[in-house]
Amino acid sequence: MTVDLRSDTVTKPTPGMLEAMWGAKVGDDVFGEDETVNALEEKAAKLFGMEAGLFCPSGTMTNQVAIKCFTQPLDELIADQASHVYRYEGGGIAFNSAVSTRLLNGDRGRITAEMIAPEINAENVHYPRTSLVVLENTVNKGGGSCYKLDDIKPIAALCKQKGLKLHLDGARIFNALANTGDGAADYGKYFDGISVCLSKGLGAPVGSVLLADKETIKYARRVRKVLGGGMRQAGFLAAAGIYALDHHVERLKIDHAHAQILADALNGQSWVSYVMPADTNIVLFDTVAPAIEVLQKLLSKGIRANSTDTHRIRFVTHLDVHPRQVEYIVEVLGQEF
Ligand SMILES: *Cc1c(COP(=O)(O)O)cnc(C)c1O
Repeated sequence: MTVDLRSDTVTKPTPGMLEAMWGAKVGDDVFGEDETVNALEEKAAKLFGMEAGLFCPSGTMTNQVAIKCFTQPLDELIADQASHVYRYEGGGIAFNSAVSTRLLNGDRGRITAEMIAPEINAENVHYPRTSLVVLENTVNKGGGSCYKLDDIKPIAALCKQKGLKLHLDGARIFNALANTGDGAADYGKYFDGISVCLSKGLGAPVGSVLLADKETIKYARRVRKVLGGGMRQAGFLAAAGIYALDHHVERLKIDHAHAQILADALNGQSWVSYVMPADTNIVLFDTVAPAIEVLQKLLSKGIRANSTDTHRIRFVTHLDVHPRQVEYIVEVLGQEF
C-alpha cells in the first residue's frame, strides 16, 4: 500500500470534478469574458460576505497581490514569524511590494491585538509606516492551529482604529471553519482581503481566489496582470473550484478525524519525542532519530511525508487519504523506528 502525506496539494481531481471541468463554459478571462471564472469569483465573494473576487493561479499570488494592494513601497507589515507570506513566498513581500516585515512570536503562529499594538510604528520619519497586518488561518507551520472569529475581532478593531488593513491568508480557511464552527459569511466583516485556496484540502488541481471590496479587486486585477497571472480560458480550472466549494467542504472533518487518529497513534511511540495537537488536517511531530532517517523508513513502507526541521515531520491528511490507508499507517507507526 502507498499513501502520500506530504501535503494536501497532492490530490487528483475526482471523476465528478473532471466532468465539471470538461463541461465548463469558457471565454477569455483577461477580457472578463469567462463566465465560469466570473461565477467562481462571485460565489466565493458571496460565501465570505465580500463584494468581489479574483481568481489567481496560486495562493502565493493571491497573498502577494493583496500585500501590493494594501501597502505602498517603504511601508511595513506585521505578521507572525511562522507565516507563509514571510517564510514560504520567496521573499516576495520585499520584491513585489518593497515592504519590510515586522515579525511577532505568536502561539503556534497565532498573534493577538495585545502583541500587535506595541509594534505599530509611530508617525516618525525614521520608521517605516505600518500599514498592514496579515493573519493565517489555519497556520500551516503551527500544525494547522486555528483562530476563532472571536480571537480575530479585537485585532480587526485595533486595525480599524489605527488605520491598518487586515489580510487573511486563508489557504486552509475551510479547515479552520470546520474546526471552530464559525460562519464563512462573518469573515468579510473583519478583513479587507481574504485568500482562499482551492487546491489544498478542497482538492481542485489549481487556483486560489482573492476576496475584497470592488475597488481593491479592480486594482488587484492590474497587479495580477503585471505578475503574469492573467489567464485566458481559465474557466476549466474555475469549474473545478466551483465543484470543490459545492462538494468538498463538508468532508474536511473526515481529514481532521484522520489526523487525530494519526496523532493518537504517534503519541504512544518511543521513537517520537513530541506530537503537536492535531487541530485540523496537519500533524507535526518530533522524532528521536533524525527526521531524514525516519522518512526513509516510512518511504520503504510506502508512506511519503516531509520534514519541516531536522527532527520534525509533517503529515497532512486530504481527500486522497482513505480510511484503509489510515489503518495501515497506524499499523506501520507501531513498528520500530
Ligand atoms: C499553500 C499555502 C499558500 C499558497 O501556496 P501556493 O502553493 O502558492 O498555492 C499560502 N498560505 C498557506 C498558509 C499555505 O499553506
